[in-house]
Amino acid sequence: MKRALITGVTGQDGAYLAALLLEKGYEVHGLVRRSSSADVIDAKLRWLKIQNDVKFIDGNLLDLSSLIRAMRDVKPDEVYNLGAQSFVKSSWSQPLLTGQVTGLGAANILEAVRLDAPQARFYQASSSEMYGLIQEPVQNETTPFYPRSPYAVAKVFAHGMTVNYRESFGLHASNGILFNHESPVRGIEFVTRKVTDGVARIKLGQQSELRLGNIDAKRDWGHSKDFVRAMWMMLQQDIADDYVIATGRTTTVRDMCHIAFDYVGLNVDDHLVIDPALFRPAEVDLLLGNPAKAHAKLGWKPDISLEEMIREMVEADLKRVKQQIG
Ligand code: NDP
Ligand code: GDP
Repeated sequence: MKRALITGVTGQDGAYLAALLLEKGYEVHGLVRRSSSADVIDAKLRWLKIQNDVKFIDGNLLDLSSLIRAMRDVKPDEVYNLGAQSFVKSSWSQPLLTGQVTGLGAANILEAVRLDAPQARFYQASSSEMYGLIQEPVQNETTPFYPRSPYAVAKVFAHGMTVNYRESFGLHASNGILFNHESPVRGIEFVTRKVTDGVARIKLGQQSELRLGNIDAKRDWGHSKDFVRAMWMMLQQDIADDYVIATGRTTTVRDMCHIAFDYVGLNVDDHLVIDPALFRPAEVDLLLGNPAKAHAKLGWKPDISLEEMIREMVEADLKRVKQQIG
């Protein structure tokens, strides 16, 4: 039985990846940081009904000793570093923490792998945000990075460290440059989930407006379930490498809103309010990935369309809001 160690197991991708690995017969260990809300921290794992199947290990990406202990205890075959301060907007209000967790945290876990689990295969959660002020209209593995937020700067560091540990120490370390991906357990602060939650609340009479920032921004949105499959595929390759994971289709926030509002028969223009406070100090206007390498070398392609995903998210939020209002 293979053993996997996932940092960020309580997050969206951690939950979907844990479900995939359990399905494949792995023993799944998840690093969990101490929280005063231990009773709700596994909400995403609960949503996928796997909260009792993941073995939790106490640790933090900021504490190298906890990572070394995790390597010694788990003796993982595969390590997936998904832990991060992952919300771009918060990275302007907490730039130092973001640098420590999202950037140096990756260096910490790479060190722990190098020292105590050098045979393990390592996955780093790189991000399309690294392309930032895009240097090519369609981004692939050779497109230069131009980060536009402290989050993206931290991710560029983590990406570079992963390449460097592969080249310096021969670690089987791969970067997945993932474009935005969502699901019913996406954090509520991200725009897709904010919209599907808002649509559910408006439909059920709990609120009347939805406040958003820059709705002209374009994102290449996929489903977390599809994207975590690509993470696993990367670690099954004989040779570690870096891959863009994207759908190859880009959509404005405005059009994504239309999909969600139309689904429940509401008119978006009756409810959408543009709030200048929600604009960002520097914006990433357009992301569009070319996943040709992942398709050719991993045999990966996404199965779930944006429309299918938004409908699934709206249904999930309708269910949640109905439960809340009894
Ligand atoms: P989430 O924000 O849902 O999850 C982040 C996880 O990191 C949570 O489990 C969180 O724990 C954990 N974490 C935060 N700080 C620490 C710390 N100091 N030590 C250990 N763990 C910590 O992110 P996603 O699941 O959406 O994303 C997974 C990874 O992929 C992230 O690295 C993200 O930056 C990256 N990524 C995501 C994309 C997306 O569109 N979703 C696109 C490209 C990259 P807790 O529950 O305690 O907060
Ligand atoms: P990101 O691509 O990782 O920053 O993912 P988000 O889902 O947070 O944001 C995607 C895009 O939606 C960005 O260009 C945001 O500026 C834009 N956006 C517009 N309004 C909002 C909002 O109210 N919340 C969030 N999170 N994003 C918004």
